[in-house]
Amino acid sequence: MVRAFVGSCPGMSRRDQPPGGGGRPDGRPGGRIRRWPVLRQLLGEDPRAEAARSARTDALRPRTADADHVARSVCPYCAVGCGQLVYVRDGRVTQIEGDPDSPISRGRLCPKGAASRQLVTRPTRRTRVLYRRPYGTEWETLDLETAMDMIADRVVATRRQTWQETDAEGRVLRRTLGIASLGGATLDNEENYLMKKLYTALGAIQIENQARI
Ligand code: SF4
Repeated sequence: MVRAFVGSCPGMSRRDQPPGGGGRPDGRPGGRIRRWPVLRQLLGEDPRAEAARSARTDALRPRTADADHVARSVCPYCAVGCGQLVYVRDGRVTQIEGDPDSPISRGRLCPKGAASRQLVTRPTRRTRVLYRRPYGTEWETLDLETAMDMIADRVVATRRQTWQETDAEGRVLRRTLGIASLGGATLDNEENYLMKKLYTALGAIQIENQARI
């Protein structure tokens, strides 16, 4: 009865084609023929699950299976701060998935967070500081130490030039309107807390953050 289904079937991949005469001498189907999806469905395997799986699918393994290290992290994209597991192999990030132990996200990531491996590994990612001088037409690379010193120099100079000790009526202000901050969506609560502390200590009052645009 079963042998009536054994034969070439248009649309089937070569792998799934049953080999001619694949049965055993006792009439029961042999190993390769036993893998034929039609036969597996007829023999009662779930046609939407086990019987629909090819040998290639069975052989597939997740990228996380051969990681030699898993690090805990936080999604950098927005202030929700979903927990992430970062899978690493040979020093390279191979996958980033939701952390089931995170009390915030309990293993879930939105599509943006789920794609954050690309943020880390894509070849166009900038890893050097780029600087374009006033009136310059080309970008030049700077080492981080130099760039941080330049930023600090500008902050100190701007604060000094724009400092307001009192208003026109002599009321105490002790502020600068020359420095403002607009935080990005990747800043989490802790980073925003530290930024607010820093800018307030500098006398800046125009401090804002957006959770997401
Ligand atoms: S971008 Fe998505 S995954 Fe990342 S913290 Fe925000 S909600 Fe969570």
